[in-house]
Amino acid sequence: MKNIRNFSIIAHIDHGKSTISDRLIQICGGLTIREMSAQVLDSMDIEKERGITIKAQSVTINYVSKIQKKTFQLNFIDTPGHVNFSYEVLRSLNACEGAVLIIDSTQGIEAQTLENCKIAIDMKLKIIPVLNKIDLPTANISNSLNQIKNIIGFSPDQVLQCSGKTGFGIIDLLEKIVTDIPAPQGNPNKPLQALVIDSWFDNYLGVVSLICIKNGSLRKRDKIKVMSNSKIYTIESIGLFTPKKIYCNMLRCGQVGWVICNTKHVTDILVGDTLTLNKNPAVNTLPGFKKIKPQIYAGLFPIDLTEYQNFKNGLIKLSLNDASLYYENEHSTSLGFGFRCGFLGLLHMEIVKERLEREYHIDLISTAPNVIYEVETLNNKIIYVDNPSKFPALNKIKEIREPIAKCNIFTPTKFVGSIIKLCTQKRGIQINLTYHMNQVSILYEIPMSEVILNFFDELKSISSGYASLEYNFLNFKKSDVVKLDILINSKKIDALSCIIHKKNSQIYAKKIVHKIQSTIPRQQFDVIIQSVINNIIIARSTVKQLKKNVLSKCYGGDISRKKKLLQKQKKGKKKLKKIGKIAIPQKTFFTILNRH
Ligand code: GDP
Ligand code: MG
Repeated sequence: MKNIRNFSIIAHIDHGKSTISDRLIQICGGLTIREMSAQVLDSMDIEKERGITIKAQSVTINYVSKIQKKTFQLNFIDTPGHVNFSYEVLRSLNACEGAVLIIDSTQGIEAQTLENCKIAIDMKLKIIPVLNKIDLPTANISNSLNQIKNIIGFSPDQVLQCSGKTGFGIIDLLEKIVTDIPAPQGNPNKPLQALVIDSWFDNYLGVVSLICIKNGSLRKRDKIKVMSNSKIYTIESIGLFTPKKIYCNMLRCGQVGWVICNTKHVTDILVGDTLTLNKNPAVNTLPGFKKIKPQIYAGLFPIDLTEYQNFKNGLIKLSLNDASLYYENEHSTSLGFGFRCGFLGLLHMEIVKERLEREYHIDLISTAPNVIYEVETLNNKIIYVDNPSKFPALNKIKEIREPIAKCNIFTPTKFVGSIIKLCTQKRGIQINLTYHMNQVSILYEIPMSEVILNFFDELKSISSGYASLEYNFLNFKKSDVVKLDILINSKKIDALSCIIHKKNSQIYAKKIVHKIQSTIPRQQFDVIIQSVINNIIIARSTVKQLKKNVLSKCYGGDISRKKKLLQKQKKGKKKLKKIGKIAIPQKTFFTILNRH
């Protein structure tokens, strides 16, 4: 055990975590060059396409230290860097004694560098600061070293300089990992305590769980007990990721590896749980993970109603792997049966939707996302409303409170003015502003509903990409919001209802009607769109009826041509949702998001 090192790699997005991880694997011979595809750790299709890491992944490799002349077993976990996925970072760190903190020398310290570093310090992990991308001509090494010294307190001689691209400095990094990071502290003779770091559904193998053995050891055929629910299973197979899946007979104290049990349901072993042995159980569970609450909610509905069961199975499987994905049944009068889902942010929502569509081949409609509201009714009940169409009637409400986000913005000084202007526009209240040389850290309280929309993109655009953001839920605060309903041909479309701030609500109501009108294709009849606040019609717009019949072009004659045309029309319709007689495209449901 004294030759095991468990660590995570943490950084702001794009600073080079995945690239450095790949380099570590390559140097330690985990894969041959032929086996290394573009980036091995970002293995999910969507991760590769978007170039971001979504799931934390673990890899076990052996490193022969040139200095200590010994072989070490390294378990490292690549963590996601996007602001929507910081909970995955926390999960990975729970299994580690150390963290490699990567800082891009062309960017310097950013909001997530700070946030992740704070978490690692709180968890008492040994931190190894690394300055990456020093091969680039735009690298600003002295400036970055100064920032690291002044903001997170590491002197320049403590900081390793390297390049994930050329491989420069990576051996030094490996040597530093084995000398500086302590070996895991567990006791191999104590009863088993294994922390479930991750758990996912594999179409061939069933439920696979990634675990870290904190005390004791675990063998194939052992009977384990899941400590949260006392359920008992048999370990059917057990092994390591190198990153290839390797089978072995046991996992020792301090090791990180995978297990497959005779579980029936994807929900039998949950992330954050503790596994122990049935015949010699531990008394206490390990400290689990903080339950992560979703920040935005939206309805997801299959376009084709017969896909409902398939959709439900997909959602259950995805949520096993994703503790922050919440769902419950929803029935919409306009869209039928589906699920109300909770997500960490817009990117998280897009990725879940995309995975369901790709991996389960379902076409989905999603309604525009909204935050959750705390509503106090006149008879002093507090209810939480995550669906605008479920808002209580106005004459039953005493007070509505909306979620507020604590936003930490980190930026070069020259953008401070425009950032403050943007935050004010988003109804933000400034809490603090601290200068660190040519960087500023700005603390704001901004309504979550404003933060989850395009705040991040706007922040990036006014600061030429330099400002970075980290946000967390703070509290609920009284707010003047109203519900806006949309009628299409006099029928209320519940999936298009939204909650907006009273200020500007009249202007939004008008804009939204026109935006919706521009997304709806012409039909065989006029389509009238109206927006309503408190039962008062605010605005109205019409989609004029279609003049030409597609088939009229065919002059009756050629049957095959007629069929082709109909086929083409049918294809175009596939992405449309029929509500009554009216075909509405997916983008209509999203227009209410871009109300500005
Ligand atoms: P992650 O988001 O932290 O996992 O970052 P990635 O490893 O995906 O890297 C982001 C981008 O930076 C990719 O285009 C990499 O090819 C590039 N990159 C990473 N490390 C280096 C480096 O040392 N030098 C150069 N020139 N580019 C790098
Ligand atoms: Mg990555």
